[in-house]
Amino acid sequence: MRRPLIAGNWKMNGSLALVERFAQAFTTAELPAEVDIAFMLPAPYLPAAQRSFAGLPVSLGAQTLHPEPKGAYTGEISGAMLKEFGAHYVLVGHSERRSLFHEDDTAVLARVRAALQAGLEPVLCLGETLEERETGSTEAVVSKQLAAVFDGLDESERRRLTVAYEPVWAIGTGKTATPDQAQEVHLALRQRLAQYDTALGETARLLYGGSMNKDNAAALLAQPDIDGGLIGGASLQVDDFLAICQSAG
Ligand code: PEP
Repeated sequence: MRRPLIAGNWKMNGSLALVERFAQAFTTAELPAEVDIAFMLPAPYLPAAQRSFAGLPVSLGAQTLHPEPKGAYTGEISGAMLKEFGAHYVLVGHSERRSLFHEDDTAVLARVRAALQAGLEPVLCLGETLEERETGSTEAVVSKQLAAVFDGLDESERRRLTVAYEPVWAIGTGKTATPDQAQEVHLALRQRLAQYDTALGETARLLYGGSMNKDNAAALLAQPDIDGGLIGGASLQVDDFLAICQSAG
């Protein structure tokens, strides 16, 4: 009943040529009809992707947004602007935003609210550091990150979020959580969501992210509480990303 989502996070990578390469490959590829596919692009590529992916069964997304709808925030981009250029999704709280750009839980909640206000679907990213895992606080850390956002939303808003569990130690490192490790955290997150509302626990889409690739995707995606993937490095390779999309079908 939960539709899988495979979302590629290009981070600050790519080019117009890469957008075109993906568009051409996805035009002829067999895409699994039961899987949602999204490209979280650097914002300047959204207009080209909007044109080149027109008619393809894929969605576009962005990687962050400013919490305010407009104003004197030089260099920033609002949710409405992303929406105007075809974004359906936006990542919020990615670990690189949290660590490199000092976005704390309050900043993350403000961005989730801004995304909802703009009609975007936020993909809330959360996850523990290696130290937190090694000291046995994974569940406490992710529950706190989840609650910091979900406590601030009402029932209908909560239903509009996708959550991506991304252990920080697995992002861009080549170290993937084992399917069992990922499943354990996904189950804990789902149980935590069910405390808000039983239906939310059942319907919330929970993605795994962290060095997912064409070789490990199927085993991760086969876990009962993993509903898709957020993919960084492997989303820049056409064949690898396609293979991951197909393994979610
Ligand atoms: C990410 O950036 O969200 C991510 C999961 O990256 P990678 O797949 O490269 O670990």
